[in-house]
Amino acid sequence: GIPTVRKRPLAERRKSRKIMVGSVPVGGDAPVSVQSMTTTVTADVNATLQQIAELTAAGCQIVRVAVPSQDDADALPQIAAKSPIPVIADIHFQPKYVFAAIDAGCAAVRVNPGNIKKFDDRVGEIAKAASEAGVPIRIGVNAGSLDERLLRKYGTATPEALVESALWECSLFEEHGFTDLKISVKHHDPVVMIAAYRLLAERCDYPLHLGVTEAGPPFQGTIKSAVAFGALLAEGIGDTIRVSLSAPPVEEVKVGIAILEALNLRERGLEIVSCPSCGRAQVDVFTLAERVQAGLAGLPVPLRVAVMGCVVNGPGEAREADLGVASGNGKGQIFVEGKVIKTVPESQIVETLIEEALKLAERRGIT
Ligand code: SF4
Repeated sequence: GIPTVRKRPLAERRKSRKIMVGSVPVGGDAPVSVQSMTTTVTADVNATLQQIAELTAAGCQIVRVAVPSQDDADALPQIAAKSPIPVIADIHFQPKYVFAAIDAGCAAVRVNPGNIKKFDDRVGEIAKAASEAGVPIRIGVNAGSLDERLLRKYGTATPEALVESALWECSLFEEHGFTDLKISVKHHDPVVMIAAYRLLAERCDYPLHLGVTEAGPPFQGTIKSAVAFGALLAEGIGDTIRVSLSAPPVEEVKVGIAILEALNLRERGLEIVSCPSCGRAQVDVFTLAERVQAGLAGLPVPLRVAVMGCVVNGPGEAREADLGVASGNGKGQIFVEGKVIKTVPESQIVETLIEEALKLAERRGIT
């Protein structure tokens, strides 16, 4: 078994229908999944597959690739065949790329039928091809590319406008009997985004893909995504998430996973319970916490590790943790499962914790 305590999430999940994105279920009782998007030129097959491998190693479960040109569409069969995780083709206007993506074995397509209808109305054919191939479609409404008609009606990209747009897009597929859909209604402002998803969650039972679009550089984007996803997931809304950062996509995956872990929607991996330190601290807690984090990060063991600056709260926190250290006087009291097992010099704290973590993993049958 997994040693960390399984805690209850904040709310019952909203009841959504389940779709399959390749091998990954989305919606229904499926765990919330983490997605990202490649930043390579899709036509560069090797670079794209390399980035997908890195994303997969970081824990990404579904990956999206942009398909703006014929060269990109031509690369899809190889990418879909060799990617270890399901690939979603992201297409804007061209129906022919949608058919190419379905033929290529992509697990899903992100396309807004409203765009297709405007230029070359082959929505019915797309519905038929997707349905025959068992390929779901994501309708992705973004504040930045909201339909002209709705912009005129609402003046700006309000939650109502985003939701009306998304449900209208869905209706274009529904009129062809196609309902294998999931939806996103992204906005850069978490407040508008949260309101939009709440409204959407009430109005349909399609699975929802959460995203704050153009969330920004890592710090701001992480905060915006954590706040917005946190608010929605805490209400049970959201079936798959993508954190958008102006940063390498692996960072998006790390943040996405950490958000799910923080909400108990994912078993926590390494969790460092470290004190903020105060005037009583007798070691540099910040550095120690970082060294412990770095030293234990690679271990495939879910662990809660307490790193405390002094012995005032050390024993209390350590009792709840798998491992712990309470420092003082250039030494560290090492706790394992709540008991002090030894005291080591400060310089040996990290290596001792790693040693004890490995022993603990072995005792618990995880290697
Ligand atoms: Fe201060 Fe000790 Fe608490 Fe850390 S554990 S915040 S050093 S009292």
